[in-house]
Amino acid sequence: MNSQTLHEQSQALEGQSPEDILRFAFEHFPKIAISTAFGPEGCALVAMAAGLKPDLRVFTIDTDFLFPESVQLRARIEAKYGITVEVLRGEVTIAEQNRRFGVRLFESDTNQCCALRKVEPTRRALVGLDAWVAGIRRDQSSTRAEIAILESYDQPDGSSLVKVNPLANWTRKDTWKYLLDNEVPYNPLLDSGYKSIGCWPCTQPVAADDDERAGRWGGHKAECGIHTFMERKA
Ligand code: SF4
Repeated sequence: MNSQTLHEQSQALEGQSPEDILRFAFEHFPKIAISTAFGPEGCALVAMAAGLKPDLRVFTIDTDFLFPESVQLRARIEAKYGITVEVLRGEVTIAEQNRRFGVRLFESDTNQCCALRKVEPTRRALVGLDAWVAGIRRDQSSTRAEIAILESYDQPDGSSLVKVNPLANWTRKDTWKYLLDNEVPYNPLLDSGYKSIGCWPCTQPVAADDDERAGRWGGHKAECGIHTFMERKA
């Protein structure tokens, strides 16, 4: 699918439900995977997709700094939907990271830490894929306001990759309605003042009227790099 066709198809999918967007993606892209850190949107996406594609491939990144509740949630999702989640870690171990950069890189240089612990394994997971499904929404932050339902990227090896954002048009309320209506497991920390959950050193609970991602990195940055490391073509 060339960039113009992809753009037109993305526009045509704007009024479609996330399930219909997933159906389209599964029909058109044989080598496809969902990535998730098991936030509310990722849990909803996996629940939807598991009913549509029995051989669903799901991968997640374990940074070695996850909350125990997040690791337990992964197992709950696997058990409920009968899937095995592929878990990737950075090539640089925590011990090596500590030796090379100091023991609290997550304080001294969050960009370097995220690059090693999140972006590098994500790059590896995407190699060979036609399409990558992500659970991001336009209203989560200004950095996500312009996402398209279908986006085109070039991988570092020159191959093409389509990113599929089935929840682009959803709101936080839509996500929670789906989770509760469908009894989808979610992270119990979300009932304890957290609105967005990443690694424990960089995630704080927030006030009820705070922005959804205000508790990440103390408000110093909005993205870890997973959704921004490739330049979008269309
Ligand atoms: Fe490191 Fe924090 Fe990024 Fe996790 S979110 S990879 S701990 S800087």
